[in-house]
This record gives sequence, C-alpha cells and structure tokens, in this order.
Amino acid sequence: MEDQKVMDSLKSPRFNGIKTFMRMPEDKNLAGVDFAVVGIPFDSGATYRVGTRFGPTQIREVSCLAAKPYNPVLGVGIFDHCKGVDYGDVRNIPGYIEDSFSLIEEDMSVLFNAGVVPVAMGGDHSVTLPELRACAKKHGPVALIHFDAHYDTIPEYFGKPYTHGTPFHHAAVEGLVDTAHSIHIGIREGLYSPEDERHSAELGYACLPAHVMHHMSMEEVIQTICERVGTKKAFLTFDIDFLDPAYAPGTGTPVPGGFSTAEALELVRGLKDLSIVGYDVVEVAPPYDTTQITAIAAAGLMQEFLSQIAYRKSRK
Ligand code: MN
Ligand code: MN
Repeated sequence: MEDQKVMDSLKSPRFNGIKTFMRMPEDKNLAGVDFAVVGIPFDSGATYRVGTRFGPTQIREVSCLAAKPYNPVLGVGIFDHCKGVDYGDVRNIPGYIEDSFSLIEEDMSVLFNAGVVPVAMGGDHSVTLPELRACAKKHGPVALIHFDAHYDTIPEYFGKPYTHGTPFHHAAVEGLVDTAHSIHIGIREGLYSPEDERHSAELGYACLPAHVMHHMSMEEVIQTICERVGTKKAFLTFDIDFLDPAYAPGTGTPVPGGFSTAEALELVRGLKDLSIVGYDVVEVAPPYDTTQITAIAAAGLMQEFLSQIAYRKSRK
C-alpha cells in the first residue's frame, strides 16, 4: 500500500530509531487503517508478581528484530494488503482498576468503532475485560479463543470482582462473549478447589487442558478450536503463560508443563481462516525476562496476528 509508512529495514538498520511496533508509524489517525497495535500498560490487576506495565515498551523494543513484513508460511506481505499503525498506549491510572477499565474501554471503543482490528499488548490479563466490553459494543457477543495456563474465571479474588484471575467470569456474566463458541486452551494450573473447573464449565466454556493437549497433535488442537468457534466473530486472547516457563519466564504467574513457542505459532497460524475481530497478548513482565525471550515470543505471535489479518484481507 503506497501510503503505508513503515521503515525499510534494508535501508535503515533495525536498531536505529525510536521503537514502535515493527517500526510502524505511531499514529492516532485511523483513516483507512486496517489494524492498530496498542499498548495497555496496566498491572494493578495482578494477584502475584507485578511488572507487566512495562510489557508494551519491551515488546516494541524487541519487535524491531521482527520488522520484516513478508510472512513466508502464509505467503503474505503484511503491508501489501493492509494499512497499520502503532496507536501508542491507552490511558490508565495505576492502582485504580475500575477507573482504568473505563478509560481502556473508552480508548478501545475508538478503535473498534473505526472498523480497525486492534492487536493489544498488556498489561495483566484484567485488561481483556474492558477490551471485550468495547468489542461487544461493536460486534456483539464474540467467541473467545483463550490461550492460558489459567481459567481466569474465578468470580472474585480477595472479596473483589476485578483482578487478572476473574475477567472471563465477568465477560460471560455480562454477555460479552458467547461461551457456547468459546474455549480455554492450555489450562494446567493447580486449582483452589474443583469448584473452579466446574464454574468455568457452568458458564459454558469448553476447555482443552494441557495434559490432554500433550497427547494430541497440534493439527487436532487446531481442528477442535475451529469447530468450537465456527463462523462466529471471535476475540483471541493470548496469556503468555500458555508457554512453558522455559520459553516465557518473564510473566506474572508462570506454570510448568506448558507449550513451546513453535507450538504456539503453529496453533495461531491454524486459526487464520476464523473471523477474528480483535487480539491481545498479555502478562509479559520484563523485570523477570532477563534475556528478553518472553517479549520476543510475544512480538513473534503478534507478527503472526498481523500476517493473518493481511491474509484474510488478501483473500476477500
Ligand atoms: Mn490469564
Ligand atoms: Mn495465566
């Protein structure tokens, strides 16, 4: 697209310049824009380690390495079919979760209402609830494709409704997601009680737990997800702790027994034909990410998201 201004990494070294995601222009003008990368640097919903407020900055920093716009697996050039921007970060107030949710919902609504597909970077997983509130206002209840070691469907934590352990309880109760088409993928946490698992199922979510997935091919996992979602509009949320701590140590609540980055990329690629209207990657905590391996995985997943947005547009 001729009006897309992305820095050409064959002409200017990738370590040059101020870091935006994949060296896209930072721009709040959404005219003609297909997708917008946006940071949600809020971590007051964390119940254990904090630090994901630094996630968006770190992911942008390492994403310059991924600033090569042609995806050879999908056979698509991201900017041949799409116009994208780095929208910067949404507003939030550290420590004030409900005020922040209002600001996040308001800012994300601007993107959804402009017909843009947002690709957001958390922040802790609590931010997905206001994202889904904004999404539902535009698209109605969506199918939730939820990669995570955790259900995140506890009704309340410490007697309070909003933390990173509760977003998908509220999303279901508020009617933001169509749980009959929604699925958790990669769950392997120890539970507070069997009630946690029962509650998620009672809300209507399907679940592919890690111990089952480890005996399936990735192809079978892809098929299960695609059958569940069908032709519904969907929102894909990727908690980086879906990955094993060997691949993603920089996160708030790591759980052993997870998946490799290669497996995650393969799973995400397999969803390229679904009608996904929004994406996020959450829970990247740079203070625990000494080699940047976690942020690099997040940037790679986001590059796949942008590639599949372009892939879908190229097929229209
Ligand atoms: Mn989560
Ligand atoms: Mn998690």
